[in-house]
Amino acid sequence: MIHPDTELKFVSEQIGFGVFATKDIPKGTITFVKDSLDIELTEEEFLRLSQMEQTQADKFSYIDERGMRVLSWDHGKYVNHCCEPNTMSTGFGFEIALRDIKAGEEITDEYGLFNIPVPIPLACGCESCRGELHPSDHEVYADVWDEKIRSALVHTKDVSQPLWEILPAQKRLDIMNYLSGTGSMPSVRVLKYYPMVQSNLA
Ligand SMILES: [Zn+2]
Repeated sequence: MIHPDTELKFVSEQIGFGVFATKDIPKGTITFVKDSLDIELTEEEFLRLSQMEQTQADKFSYIDERGMRVLSWDHGKYVNHCCEPNTMSTGFGFEIALRDIKAGEEITDEYGLFNIPVPIPLACGCESCRGELHPSDHEVYADVWDEKIRSALVHTKDVSQPLWEILPAQKRLDIMNYLSGTGSMPSVRVLKYYPMVQSNLA
C-alpha cells in the first residue's frame, strides 16, 4: 500500500503514469508497505500466464528477495524510477522518504533494488542518470543507498506514519530496536534475490 497522500497522474506519452504527492511528505516517512492485498507470483506461476498477462506483470511488478513477483493492487505500482529517487526500499522491507517531498512532486523510486534480471535502458532525464539499470547496481551502490536510508530513518519517529499500522509486528519491533540503539539496520543487500543454482550432486 502506498502512502495515502499520493495520487496517480499522467506524465507523458513516453513515461505514462506516475505517482504524485498530494501533501508534503517529510523525510523519514514510510511511503510503501507490502500488504496482504498485493498479488505474489512465483516464477512458475508467472510463466503459466498468457503472454499478454506476462507483459503486464513484468511492467508493474517487482521481484523481492525470495524471487517472488509482487504486483501491488493500488497505484503504488505506477511509481517511476529515478537515479536520484526521493523514496527507496529499505532492508526493513518498507520504503522510506529519503528527503522532504513537496505536495505536487512526483514520488520516485530506486528500481536497482527490484532484482531486475537484465539491463534496462533508462529515460529518467535526471541530472546524474546512470543511463541503464543493471543487475549489478544492487551490489555497486548498496553502501551509498544504506547511508541515504540511515539518514532518513533518524526522522522516522518524529513524523506522521499512516502506514505504521500495516507494518508486520516483527518489522515494527526491528525498527524500534534500531532507533533505540539495541538493534542494527539491515543493509539493502538483504533485498537481493539469489536464484537457486541447480546442483548436480545427488
Ligand atoms: Zn536516471
